[in-house]
Amino acid sequence: MMTGLQCISCGASYPVLPLYNCEGCGGILDVVYDYERIADKWRREGENTDDLLPLPFAKRVTLGEGNTPLLKADRLARRLGIEELYLKCEFANPTGSFKDRPVSIGVSMAIAFECAQIIVASSGNGAAATSAYAARAGLDAVILVPEATPSEKVKQSVAYGGKVIRVEGPYSNSFALAKEVGEQFGMFNVTSTFINPYTMEGDKNVAYEMYRQLDGRVPDWVYVPIGAGPLLVGIDKGYRELMKLGKTAHLPRMAGIQAEGCSPIARAYREGRERVESDPSPATIAGGINDGLHGYAQDGTYTLEAIRRSGGYANAVPDEAIREAQSWLAKDEGLFVEPSSAVSIAELKMSVEAGRVEPSSAVTVILTGHGLKDMGSIRSDYEAPLIPKQANALVELLQS
Ligand SMILES: [Zn+2]
Repeated sequence: MMTGLQCISCGASYPVLPLYNCEGCGGILDVVYDYERIADKWRREGENTDDLLPLPFAKRVTLGEGNTPLLKADRLARRLGIEELYLKCEFANPTGSFKDRPVSIGVSMAIAFECAQIIVASSGNGAAATSAYAARAGLDAVILVPEATPSEKVKQSVAYGGKVIRVEGPYSNSFALAKEVGEQFGMFNVTSTFINPYTMEGDKNVAYEMYRQLDGRVPDWVYVPIGAGPLLVGIDKGYRELMKLGKTAHLPRMAGIQAEGCSPIARAYREGRERVESDPSPATIAGGINDGLHGYAQDGTYTLEAIRRSGGYANAVPDEAIREAQSWLAKDEGLFVEPSSAVSIAELKMSVEAGRVEPSSAVTVILTGHGLKDMGSIRSDYEAPLIPKQANALVELLQS
């Protein structure tokens, strides 16, 4: 029951078309729905969150994304000093990251708009997802990734048959090229910042699922690693829609976490600024969120507004703390995630110690990408010893 698009800056309305930023003011476009009609339908037929998406399931290109586990993590909770910790395992999506959700919607909309070619700029996870969903849909995909993208993500993207091209410099260069060349050739741009209004709608499913998985309870906090922040804004929008439709009286506080080496949103939050400024030379091991927002700092401002409205905060953590948290997730809970996914755990430890988060809080952390996607970032001490094939060699090693 999508009714159209609306500019978040000037309020201009648009019909459902392959549009990107507002034609009048360049602002971000948001998908709007007829909530009264949806509420009426839910009263008669029961709730169906498919009504809150641009396309019903039957019209979506799918690889079985979503319905990811929400694991209660007691051992890690004790380490962090909180009572109730849940981990939303988005790395369990078909291509190994949360990007399958927005890309499923983006590729489906390309088909609805009869666009035969897709273009995307991605730090790697969106690249793999776009290549896979384009293959599934039988569409051509042009995939631009920054030169420093982990080889696992590049090879995974190539495997699905997309035309994968590495672009010199940081992510923002890939973003600018996708925008310019995509427009020139009429390709549908499914880049999941806020440039494509439809893709973020897929991220709302994380909120709907967590709502069901916690039997209608809403956590006190939701922690999300953020580059531009569409996942955070999507989850926040999902919960606000559930409130609009009378399904919850509470909203979670949203915490947006970055790496110190690339923290334009966290910096603006700490300095009390309204506007986010881009970071010209971002550098962190957390490649999935290594986005300096160069040329689209307004995306960061939009995310910061959502964070503040929810009563949450933004913060950043150093790479060494990210590595440590990555190891805690693996050794405490058996979850091997990429560095970007571990930033929230690293930050949560600091914030509980600093008294920013109450130990009695119910906290949900979104784990965005699988550890196998970025093996180059893990330390050399993850190597295994080699022994000769004699039992005494093994015994000697086990006793040492
Ligand atoms: Zn506008």
